[in-house]
Order: sequence, then C-alpha cells, then structure tokens
Amino acid sequence: MIAPAAAGPLGHVAVVHEDAERAEEIARLLRVAGHRATVLVPGRRVVQSVVDCAPDLVLVSHSLGDPPMANVVRGIRQALSEDIRIVVLYGFDPQGVPSEADDVQRAEPLQPAELQIRVSRLLRDLAERRVLQKKTSELLGLYKMSWAFSLAGGSDALFAHLAKHSAEMLKAERGLVLLYDAERRQLVGKGPGFGLSAEEVGRVRYNVDGEADSRWNFRRNGPLLSNKAQADTRLLPNLAAELKLQSLVVAPITRGPQILGLLAVADRVGRTPFTDEDLNLLLALAGQATIAVENLRLHEEIKRANALLQEYDRLKSEFVGIVAHDFRKPLMAIRGFAELVLEEPDLSLETRQEFMRTVISETEHLALLANDTLLITQIETGQMSFNFQEIDVGPFLLDAVPLGLSDHSVLLDVPAGFPRIWADPDRMRQVLTNLVTNAVKYSPAGGSIIVRGRERGAQHIVIEVIDHGMGIPQEQIGKLFQKFARVRTEDHMRVSGTGLGLYICRLIVEGHGGQIWVESELGRGSTFGLALPVDARTATRALPPGAEEAQAAPREHATS
Ligand code: ADP
Repeated sequence: MIAPAAAGPLGHVAVVHEDAERAEEIARLLRVAGHRATVLVPGRRVVQSVVDCAPDLVLVSHSLGDPPMANVVRGIRQALSEDIRIVVLYGFDPQGVPSEADDVQRAEPLQPAELQIRVSRLLRDLAERRVLQKKTSELLGLYKMSWAFSLAGGSDALFAHLAKHSAEMLKAERGLVLLYDAERRQLVGKGPGFGLSAEEVGRVRYNVDGEADSRWNFRRNGPLLSNKAQADTRLLPNLAAELKLQSLVVAPITRGPQILGLLAVADRVGRTPFTDEDLNLLLALAGQATIAVENLRLHEEIKRANALLQEYDRLKSEFVGIVAHDFRKPLMAIRGFAELVLEEPDLSLETRQEFMRTVISETEHLALLANDTLLITQIETGQMSFNFQEIDVGPFLLDAVPLGLSDHSVLLDVPAGFPRIWADPDRMRQVLTNLVTNAVKYSPAGGSIIVRGRERGAQHIVIEVIDHGMGIPQEQIGKLFQKFARVRTEDHMRVSGTGLGLYICRLIVEGHGGQIWVESELGRGSTFGLALPVDARTATRALPPGAEEAQAAPREHATS
C-alpha cells in the first residue's frame, strides 16, 4: 500500500500495460498516493493516446509487443521531448530499455514505496524544469522586442544591450559579448560591455588554438560556469586576475556547428554563487542572441561588400580608361610608323628599319599589357599553379635583374654563399623585372638602383629593390598593392602605367607563402622588399586553416 504522497509533488501519470488488470492495479496505487492516473490501451495508436492525455509521467510495460516497448518509449520522447518523464516497468530483467527512458522500476513483484519515491523524484525534476522554462521564456519574451530594436542602432547598441540585459537577468555586475575573429583566430571582447571599462573590454582576447588542453575551450567544453574564477585553472590566469573576476558564466553563441561568439556574465551581485539554473538561462539568452548577432554580421558584410563593389566599379571604369589609353598609345604609334614606311617612298633604309623597330617594340608593349591582364585573371580564378624549382639565388638575380634598361646604374648586392631556395623561377623573374622597371620608371632623374639580398633567420630570405627616385606620399602607400592602384601625383601620372604590376607581384609573392612591402619618402626614393620562405613548397602547404580566406581579404601590405 502506498502512503499518501505528502512530500513530493503530485502529477498526472499514464500507465501503458498489456495486462489491463495489472494496469488498473498500478493506477489505483498511484491514485491512493494522490496522483491522477489514466490507463491507456497499448496498440498502434498508443503514442498518440499518450500525447492526447498529456500526462506528466508515463509508466510503460517492458513486455509490450506490438509495437514493442522501445518504439513506444522513443515515440513518446520524440513527440513530447523533455516535457515528460518516462519509466519502464520490468518483470525480471531491465535489459533493452532505450536511453530515451528516464528510469526503470521493477514491477514483478511491485514495490509500492519504491515506485512512489521514483515517481515523486521524477515529477519534482519535471516541475523544476518547467518553472525554469517559464521564467526563462518570460524573461526572454520581455527582451525580445528590445533586441530587435537595438539592431537598428548598429553593433555598439546591440553589444551594449546584450551585455546589460544578460547581466541583469543573472543579477550579475558585469556582462560582455565576445565575437570570433576568423582572421586572428581569437575570441575578442566587443564593447561596450556592462560594468566594464573600454580598456577592460580591450583586454578580453582569447586564442582559439594553441592553449593547453587543460584550459577551457568552448569548442571542446561547451558552456562554462566558474565560481572561483581566479583560482580556476581552466581560465587564462592573467585575464581573470586583471579583470578581478570572482565568478563567471559563459555560453557560446552558435549557428549550427559554427561558433559566432560568446556571451559572458561575471560577478553575482552580493557574491552568491552562480547555479546551473543561471547557466541554462544564459544558454537560452545566447540562443536568442544568435539571430541578432548573425543579422548584424550579415548586415555589416553586405555593407562592406557594397562599398567594395562600388570601389571595384570605380576602379573598373578607371581601368577601362587606362587600358584604352595604354592600348591606344602603342596602337597609334604602330599605325603611324607603318603608314610612314608604306607611304613615304623616299625614306632611307636606316630610317625604315628604325621605324619598324619601334613598331615591334610597341607591339611587345601591347602583348605585355594583355599578358598582365590575363595573368591576373588566371591567378585570381585559381587557374595558375606555381612550378617550384630549386634556385641558386645569387646567379639567379644576376641573370634575372634587367641591367640594360636605361642609363641608371643597377647594382647587385648579394653576399657570397647565399642559400638556395625553392621558388617558381619564371614568376620570380617577373617580380624582379617589375620592381626594377618601376625603380627605373619612377626615377626619371636617374641615380643608382640597388638590388640587395639578405638572409632573415634560417627560414627566409629578403630581396630589396632600392631607388632614389620620386618616392611615394605616405597616405598613398597603404593601397599600393591593390589592383589598379596608382600614385596620384602629377609626376607619377606623367609616367604611363596600369597599376597592375605591384598587384601581380603581391599575388606571386603571397603564392609562395611570402610577403611584400614598401618603405618610401616622397622626393627621396623607395625601397620595395619581399620576404620569401626558403622552401615555398612547405611554406604554402603549412598555411594555417583559414589562411586562404585571410589572404583573399584586403590587407595592409605596406609599411612606411
Ligand atoms: P604601374 O607602374 O604600371 O602603374 P605598378 O603596379 O607597378 O603599376 O605600380 C603601382 C604604382 O605604384 C605606380 O603607378 C606608381 O605610382 C607607384 N610606384 C611603383 N613603383 C614605384 C617606385 N619605385 N617609385 C615610386 N612610385 C612607384
């Protein structure tokens, strides 16, 4: 006989048993304990009957045959999710009970007191979960609207809002949103936080890779709850100490398998510890924040893409103008000299030959221009692969640097015993020709041009092309390695060019896992430098994950 259940919560229990008499007997026991009990007849529609009678807990007999017990248990769990407790009643052996069941209870012979304890415990669990859910959804509902509004204010307003309301809901003194920076592979604090100064927010950075396994990693370990933050070895010790954190709850903001960022609150008002309930609430908040954060990301991506498109559009029109101009000039020369040769019968043989040489050199210029345009398309669309070979850099430079370009003196400065490197010789020749040709073009008053080779550590070499020409204004250095970029001063614009050469150099050097840069002073000259790995084959293979993405993004390639 079950005693009335004074201690535990009461609930509605459904009994599914193939033996109607046994089912009634169990139901009677439950009713005596104060629960409401409904007996359901097993069969094809049994899951639907459970859903329809909406019990808090269901007792399912282990020996159901059609459909089998495991299917019934799974069906109920699928239909009602976590909003029901399922207990399987077994006769002699509880084997074969699926993981979707919450508990098992021996029913042959039935132990009424044990059944009551089990039922009460599960109902208490369920009641607690429902209270929390209700509280969470009330709170979430309350803030849903304001989050939607805060999107209109841009990223700062959204981060401030998320941080403040998360902290308020968990009665915490501080709150902060961290976003994932794919290029740096870091989680970065996004101001304004709540209860944190801008300087403190600036310190919140967390590397995604490279930390010891003992450290908390959101990918491996999911959410975090720590009530002794400064002594917690899972956290970065400096960060916890610098921010004087006492306690901390962190939930990932996820979209599918992707982690967009983290929502963190710290230091409970009154120093009481955070609980699992707080963590659940923060997880729910993070779930809601996903949409807002994702919307914001998309919004900013579209804004960026739009600005980029406008810039491309402008550059393209400019390029068409430049190309038309650049193609027209040699074409006019070719046509003019060809006409002269054809129509002037009195020209000396020498003059004719000179005119024809001009025609040939202008044709070559046109071919070069066409080649550049084609090469860029090939590299950008991934159609070009590099043909890495072992190169002896000293002799290679001697051979590759165009020495007879003009009256400028070109000096080679490479130490003896310079290491051999692996690189694509044709592409490297192209880079050097480009840099030296530029050095000549943009030093109209002449002067020496130096090509210098140096080792940098054991893994890299550096090649510099130094001129003493017109130089580059500081404010225009940043964009120089982008497509079609030309320096816009009167002197520079007097020299014909397309703004493609340096962009091609950058694509080639980066394709080798290297870097290119420039240092320059207006009116005094420029130094273009490139660092190449000693072995481009391994350097390009060892690019970190996400590097392709990072490389494609426009970056600052120049230093001054
Ligand atoms: P192009 O010379 O065909 O215009 P590049 O891409 O090679 O294209 O160079 C881009 C711009 O950088 C040039 O238009 C020029 O203004 C500037 N530049 C390149 N090299 C030098 C240099 N050595 N000294 C001064 N300016 C340079």
